[in-house]
Amino acid sequence: MSYKLSKSKINDYLQCPRKFRYSYINKIETEENEYFKIGGDVHQIAEDFIKLWQKDESIDFLDTLYELESKYEDDYKDHCIHLADFFKEKLTCEGYEVFSTEEYLFSEKYNFSGLADIVLEKDGKLTVIDYKTGKSKSARDYVTELCYYKMLVEDAYPDKTVEYAAIYFTKDGKYSELKFIEEDYSAVNCSVTEYNNKIELIEEVREKIEAGEFPPKRQYLCKYCDFKTHCDEEGFIT
Ligand code: SF4
Repeated sequence: MSYKLSKSKINDYLQCPRKFRYSYINKIETEENEYFKIGGDVHQIAEDFIKLWQKDESIDFLDTLYELESKYEDDYKDHCIHLADFFKEKLTCEGYEVFSTEEYLFSEKYNFSGLADIVLEKDGKLTVIDYKTGKSKSARDYVTELCYYKMLVEDAYPDKTVEYAAIYFTKDGKYSELKFIEEDYSAVNCSVTEYNNKIELIEEVREKIEAGEFPPKRQYLCKYCDFKTHCDEEGFIT
């Protein structure tokens, strides 16, 4: 049986193979960091809101989000204000329908899993959207994981096509999307060639993991790494 991968695991391996080993092979536990908690809470608020909205489309967007937010100790009102605008725009102004929310997806073909935050449908085409609670960037910075969302959704629903994949940055209220197109690279598109390369990357990373290749990748992020002490003690030996 091949090693099971996920969007997060590939991202972690690409960021630093040694960090991946500490996390997934050695299973060294780390303290939950603040950003992880914010991400989990805001995703839960968004998911709960969508479920309520699916039951009753007349609910007030912001009031309902605030009510859900009030159950948490931390203050996520800024995220709620942006989510209210975003959901209102997509669901009432642009006429998208909710296809799925927080759906766990697994591709047997690639032995690969992921959790799609929200998938919207319009005119028979799907847009898969990931929420991020950190500082906004371009969707192109997330092209690898967005390709995996497309693959997972299309694998689960073979009669559907994911035309767009996007990130919604809940803290800044920014939406950035990529369109999947036949050819030609541009800042707002992902070509078939690029998409196929990203899918091939799954097997390449898996082969390296199975071969025990976990070299350290020194970078400026090392100073924030939870495993820095372990890594420093091990030195540069791979
Ligand atoms: S300290 Fe740097 S090189 Fe070491 S595991 Fe962490 S990210 Fe990788």
